[in-house]
Amino acid sequence: MKNDRYFVDDDGAIISETRTEKTIRDGYNLLDIALVRKLINWKGFPYTFQAIMLLVFVGLIFIGWQVYTPEGVNDKLFAKTNIVTLVIWGIWWPLMVWFAVTMGRVWCMICPLELVSNITERLSRKLGVKQKPLSKWIRSGAIIVFLYALIQLLVAGINLHRIPAYTSFFLIGLLTISAFVGFFFKDRAFCRGFCPIGMLLNAYGRGGMIAVRAGSGNTCQGCTGKDCIMACNRNKLDARSCPSLLNPIKLNSNKDCLVCRQCIKSCEPDNMQLLLRKPFDKNDAREEKASWALTIFIMLVSGFVTSELTTEWNAANKIFVALPEYITNITGLHSIAGFIEGLWIIVIYPLLLWTIFGTITILTKGAESLTDAWRRLALPLVVIISAGHLTKAIAKLNAWIGFLPNSFTNATNGNTNAATAGINVTPFLISNQFVSIIGLTLLTIALIYSLRVEKITGKQKSYPRFIPKIILYLFFSFIAFGIGL
Ligand code: SF4
Ligand code: SF4
Ligand code: SF4
Repeated sequence: MKNDRYFVDDDGAIISETRTEKTIRDGYNLLDIALVRKLINWKGFPYTFQAIMLLVFVGLIFIGWQVYTPEGVNDKLFAKTNIVTLVIWGIWWPLMVWFAVTMGRVWCMICPLELVSNITERLSRKLGVKQKPLSKWIRSGAIIVFLYALIQLLVAGINLHRIPAYTSFFLIGLLTISAFVGFFFKDRAFCRGFCPIGMLLNAYGRGGMIAVRAGSGNTCQGCTGKDCIMACNRNKLDARSCPSLLNPIKLNSNKDCLVCRQCIKSCEPDNMQLLLRKPFDKNDAREEKASWALTIFIMLVSGFVTSELTTEWNAANKIFVALPEYITNITGLHSIAGFIEGLWIIVIYPLLLWTIFGTITILTKGAESLTDAWRRLALPLVVIISAGHLTKAIAKLNAWIGFLPNSFTNATNGNTNAATAGINVTPFLISNQFVSIIGLTLLTIALIYSLRVEKITGKQKSYPRFIPKIILYLFFSFIAFGIGL
């Protein structure tokens, strides 16, 4: 089996080596646990879990339907007390970010959107619709970047994340698009070209500790069935060949694998593994340059994460939004102030930040042009960006989760106006200082991994190329230090 392993020798050169039987098993195979194996081999897996999550989504859509922030009520406080906004933005989103960074794309294995597109894809086939394969530009992730940017603009512009009715529309939108895409395109098209969080999971999940990998190369070589890739298995209900069109035999990265485990079920010789490994496993393949879509996405996320981190420190946030506020004031465009701020967060600020980083990279001979630098910087920098996101996620969970018990009561007795009714909760579970310490620790660990990624993928050994990563680390650490001030 050809399954390359990449590492850097003493002179900094990248060396790839075909993995041998001895090196093939890197991590603990969770399938050795009888209960895990039983669960995965169960025919109802993952559909039952996906169906439960779909019911949760539908329930939240109904509860949030036409619920707006009452007059005179602080919209942020209202969002915390309403079960729809609380569950989606205060709990699900931060937890998904945490799971992605630590465990890879594990959310995907219970994701209801995949279930919906799977159902409509099957329905469409039954009806004889001629489904299209995804074109190259859609597969590149261009639509995903656009949809993610749109969501961030709506968050800044209309407070999508604070108003239950908008969150309800958002969920309806996701379910509707997944249904349509599944109907008209084939081969898990929604996940591969449309899911707005697909690229976030792709970028953040690369170092995750859960990974699906083939076992012995000899077994695969001698395997006559090749059920994990046979097209005739793709449309089965269970034990399918990879529905994402990946080649499980050669899998050497977490970026596209949804951990759906169909290939594990389909492998008659029982040679697929579900590994628990160290973070950022050294055997995973790493690109020297990120694709264009991924690069733009990571640039955009760097703006979003900076903005989110500054909201935890009033003084930092005032400085961060000073320019868009100034522009709003001099133009008098107060009705679209949120969108102006959104453009600053996801377009202008990232461009400025990455131009600085790119210029440093060129000056240190790490790249030939600005665009070349951006693509080389994207993957090492996203490790630090994801740690910033984790820090924000903890701060958010810490501030929101205390409202959960009362939000259930509000949802059942119809009193969604709990914010005005007075809420007796202790919203902060741990102190802001402790959140700050956790953030600084995460960022420091991320810097180490980021420099490691740089060393593995970089063109040559050149310590000055560490400078942009160190600057971003210091910048995020400075903001994390001020959490709660
Ligand atoms: S890629 Fe998106 S739609 Fe597909 S399973 Fe993952 S989160 Fe769900
Ligand atoms: S079915 Fe299993 S043994 Fe056969 S090629 Fe696929 S992973 Fe290897
Ligand atoms: S490689 Fe296996 S686990 Fe990953 S998406 Fe394909 S079938 Fe699912």
